[in-house]
Amino acid sequence: MIFRSRILVSVTAPPLADGAVFVSAGQVIWAGAWKDLVGHVSDSVVDLGDAILLPGLVNAHCHLEYTSMAGALPPPRTFPDWIKSIVTAKSDWCFSDYSVSWLNGARQLLRTGTTTVADIVSVPELLDVTRDASPLRVHSFLEMTGVRSRRNPREIVGDAVELLKGLPTAHGTVGLSPHALYSTTPTLLKEAVQAAKENQWRVTMHVAESQAEFDMFMFARGPMFDWLAPQRDRADCGVGSPVRICEQSGLLDLGFIAAHVNYLWQDDAQRLAAHRASVVHCPQSHAYFRHHRFPRVELQHAGVNVALGTDSLASTRMAGSIKPTLSLFDEMRALAQTDSLLAPRDILEMATVHGARALGLSQSVGGLFPGSFADFIAIPYCGCFEEAEEFAISYSGTVNSTWIAGSCVWQKPDC
Ligand SMILES: [Zn+2]
Repeated sequence: MIFRSRILVSVTAPPLADGAVFVSAGQVIWAGAWKDLVGHVSDSVVDLGDAILLPGLVNAHCHLEYTSMAGALPPPRTFPDWIKSIVTAKSDWCFSDYSVSWLNGARQLLRTGTTTVADIVSVPELLDVTRDASPLRVHSFLEMTGVRSRRNPREIVGDAVELLKGLPTAHGTVGLSPHALYSTTPTLLKEAVQAAKENQWRVTMHVAESQAEFDMFMFARGPMFDWLAPQRDRADCGVGSPVRICEQSGLLDLGFIAAHVNYLWQDDAQRLAAHRASVVHCPQSHAYFRHHRFPRVELQHAGVNVALGTDSLASTRMAGSIKPTLSLFDEMRALAQTDSLLAPRDILEMATVHGARALGLSQSVGGLFPGSFADFIAIPYCGCFEEAEEFAISYSGTVNSTWIAGSCVWQKPDC
């Protein structure tokens, strides 16, 4: 089957006018200009018309299970205040609330052009229910904490391993997600590193998200340090930056995906780069918490792969009466507004190629090239060729259509 559109932005190659993608058995065989499509013109053609055809977007950090909390938690005074708010909100939820919320989030991703997601799961039972419930390529990371429950870390990780190994193979991989340094213990991290190595799983974690977290581990002070005094042994506080502690724990050697990393110390960017760790920036969540400037330049200058994510909708605010959604287009637009040094192509790469690299999927998603999955989207566009990439990063709303493995999984009703 051949897909034709007014403009093809494959991201991994320069944009083309009157582009075409030849698809067979769910994979891209060829992508280029329609006029160069020799020998395949007898195949059936899907003409996407006045549209930009793009690879499906890759959301490298998401919590689908919290989608129904969109805009419900007002921006907090301190980061620990937000943690208390979400813990309270979660205490009112039952399993069906989580599963409805997860499915709502998965639908939002498909409607807004995301085809691959790194999803953090804190409710283990969701894995059974949801992994085959959506055509999305879902890479599930099972979240682990251990400070409040005070459970034996070996048991926590052992249970996680047993659960993940027992899952049927679905659209995506699985991995571990120790929640954050402050909500876990050094022993749990050690056990998680060992388990991830044994099973060749990737690990993702929230790292240096807030000033409060940075101050806790770097200087043994601040609101998080004080708040956790009665709950957590703080012998690991005041010993180094969060990134440094991750390195010493062995986490950075595991295809590590560090979410946020808003606060760096001296050579932290070089440490992440040396271990080929990836960082995921979530612009709207970043704005919600009013963090300091995201150190994108320092990270990328050091050679760190920086991808984009939405985080959860529990850390987003209402836009008037409009609820926020899990649209990576909204994240790209927010990034463009705060980081004028980035070209549209750079931003598109962060939402596609870089996310694929973070997940170890560079050979299959994040671009349209021979051998990649035929995961792509179409957005309406009648403007000039030269401005297509700029238009793409400023797009809002639902996409015209979303395709995974060459099959249509979302189509706007009037398209
Ligand atoms: Zn998160």
